[in-house]
Formats: sequence, structure tokens, C-alpha cells
Amino acid sequence: MFDKSIKAFENANLFIPGGVNSPVRAFKSVNMNPVFFKSGKGSKMTDIDGNEYIDCVSSWGPLIFGHANEKVVEAISVASKNGTTYGASTEIETLVAKKITEMVPSIEKVRMVNSGTEATMSAIRLARGYTKKEKIIKFAGNYHGHGDSFLIKAGSGAVTLGLPDSPGVTKNIAKDTLIANFNNLSSVEQLFKENKSEIAAVIVEPIAGNMGLVKPRENFLDGLRKLCDSHNSLLIFDEVMTGFRVAKGGAQEIYEVSPDLTTLGKIIGGGLPVGAYGGKQEIMDMLAPNGPVYQAGTLSGNPLAMTAGLTVLNMLNQNVYDKLEIISKKIEDGWNKNIIETNTNAHIARQGSMITLFFSDKNEVINYDDALNLDVEKYAIYFKKMLEMGVYLPPSQYECLFLSSVIDEDDIEKLIISNRMALENIKDE
Ligand SMILES: *Cc1c(COP(=O)(O)O)cnc(C)c1O
Repeated sequence: MFDKSIKAFENANLFIPGGVNSPVRAFKSVNMNPVFFKSGKGSKMTDIDGNEYIDCVSSWGPLIFGHANEKVVEAISVASKNGTTYGASTEIETLVAKKITEMVPSIEKVRMVNSGTEATMSAIRLARGYTKKEKIIKFAGNYHGHGDSFLIKAGSGAVTLGLPDSPGVTKNIAKDTLIANFNNLSSVEQLFKENKSEIAAVIVEPIAGNMGLVKPRENFLDGLRKLCDSHNSLLIFDEVMTGFRVAKGGAQEIYEVSPDLTTLGKIIGGGLPVGAYGGKQEIMDMLAPNGPVYQAGTLSGNPLAMTAGLTVLNMLNQNVYDKLEIISKKIEDGWNKNIIETNTNAHIARQGSMITLFFSDKNEVINYDDALNLDVEKYAIYFKKMLEMGVYLPPSQYECLFLSSVIDEDDIEKLIISNRMALENIKDE
């Protein structure tokens, strides 16, 4: 079933470290060789052996309208005929920036970059420049891209591969990153106490999606807001994953907490590489050329990427989120029924179209310690069975599914039946 992919992986390994350009793609934690893809359309992706899958990953979030959406493809194709980059200003950059400020009210000004990693790295530099303080607080199991300051108890691929602290990050950088526990305000309070007047910012995934889906408990985000206010520190919401995904205005809209800075990525590029960070005007105006904090990018605000992004942002409205909610709820309900009827030690966490099926004895995962006790071996078996039945899930227990709005009734039925068969199969192993 995977002959060509196996061969392609051998070839890739000759020239690319680990055969992949991003570690989670290597399928290591699910004990398989990676599948190589050649095309996608709507809710489906096709691999180079010709197998078709319902895609539940959506390129880790960006493809909220599925693969090769006609409007997006058309917009990119028209834009490309006028040249792919100028390294100079275009009006579409302003249109995108304006649109973002309308969708995410806490953002008054926004700077475009080329990835989520760049967005978070730049946001903490800005926070440090603005507050004139050096330390940051992050949460165990949260992932903010691969910037040096963040590769300490990091989620996503780092926890998937068991490498939450990375060699190559110097002690000097690591000591300025303080680690608190997600959903635990007193752990944050303690760090503020021990590092009086030294905390530039608290950065958090307001809905954590990189240790599987973990929602904030009541008052957690609000409590962070208050702690930051009383210590003159900035609150940064990393909404690279949740932005435009859980709601038009991201997690901050749902939880009604307004951060000082927000980082964005994934959906914002409409499938092309884009990130952004924005927030209060007074803070953003510290950036060069207005202010002293330097940050730049040869391809930042690239016209193709801005065109794809704007096309997608313009298509997002409440109907889309209502539709995603209906699709996601049906899948959640079907899978829950399967979990109960097959008597599997598992449960589902869901926020809109972000879903994780946790293999766990506990009935809730609230932080990184809980996540570390998940049954990753069981997930690996589950993943493989689903893949063989034509369902593409994230190749890691520590990631979310990202459903797209083009998943139809047939897809939903297949997702529920396949899940049932996979869970029954696991029982027999
Ligand atoms: C994906 C992600 C990033 C990193 O974005 P890249 O575009 O992969 O660099 C940062 N933060 C969060 C919350 C993410 O999910």
C-alpha cells in the first residue's frame, strides 16, 4: 500500500536530515515510515501510491476551506502573473492588516512575517524592548515555534519525539525562560514573586493545541491578564493555531480576555507561509522604523501570500464557524459513542474544529504532566489503522485534528465507522 512512499523516504534520507523538513512529518512516534503526498482537493489528499485519505490535519490548521479551494487558487494564479515579489510596498499589505485589526479587536497595528516561529520570536523581542525587562514566562507543553527561547519544555514535535529541551540553546538564553504550569495560576504567581520586576511577558497558547487539545480552565486567562497588569508585564496570546480557527477573533474572542500582543500564523496565509504579530499601537510603534526594536523580512508581506491570506480571511464568517461546529460535533458524538461501546480508555477534547482523541485512563487532560502520561503506543496503533482505512490523522498523540469546512456527510460517516473499527481492533491486539 505504501511502496512508493517507502522508496521516496529512502531517497529523501540521502539529502534531507531525517528525510523531512519538519520533524513531526517523519511519523516516528507512530512507528511508521512517512507517507508522501502528491495532491489534495477539498477534504481529500492523495499519496504517491494513489491512496486517498480524508484529511483531518489540514496542513496543521491552515486549510480551513480544504485543499485547492477554487477562490484561493484563482487569486494566487492572478497575482502571480503580476510578479511574485517586489521587496517593496504593496496596497494589499494594508488591506490584510486592516482586515486583521477588524477581526481581532485587540490588534491595533500588525506586522507581517513568514512563519509562526518568526511571529513569536519577534513578539518577545518587542515585549523585552518595550518593558526593558528580560525574562519571559511560558507554559510547559505549550509550543511557540522553534525559537531558542521557546525550546524549553516545548510541546508539538518536541514532546512527540521526547526532545522538549534542545541542545544548541545556550544556558544564557534558557535561564531567561521561566516555566509555569498550564491551568495553574499560582505557579505563575510564584514566578512573578521570585523574579520581581524582571518579567517582560507571559506567553501562552490561550487554548493549548500542542500537547493535544487542552482548554484553559475558568479564570485562567483572566488571571494571567490580572497578574501581567499588576506586574507591568505584557500578556502575549500565541494564536498561531487558534487564530481564525476557533472563532473569527480567535480564543481571545471566546474567553473575552484581551492580550497586549497576539501572534498569528497558519490560517492567515491561506496555505502559503505567513505569520503576523500585532497588538496595542503604543507597543507596536516601538518597532523599526518608528522605534528602536529591529525586525525585518525580505519576503514579508509577499504579494502571493497576502493574496491567499486575504482571500481566506474574506471568506470567514459566522456561517463557516457554525458549519465547522456541526461537522465537528457529529464526529465527536460518533467517536464518543464508539469509545463507550468498545469500552476503550480514551476521551475526546474539542474546541470547535480542533479535536484530540486522548488515549488515557483519566477523563481529562489539563496540563503537560497529564499529557506525558498518555498511551502513545495505543495512539500509534490507532493512527496506523485509521491510515490504512483512508483517514489521515496527525501522526502524533500530542497534536489536534483540524477539520475543514468541506468535510461532507459521507466523510463524517466514514470517519465514525473507521474509528469504530480501529478501536475494536486495538482491543484485540
Ligand atoms: C504552529 C505553531 C507555531 C509555529 O508556527 P510555524 O509557522 O510552524 O513556525 C507557533 N505557535 C503555535 C501555537 C503553533 O501552533
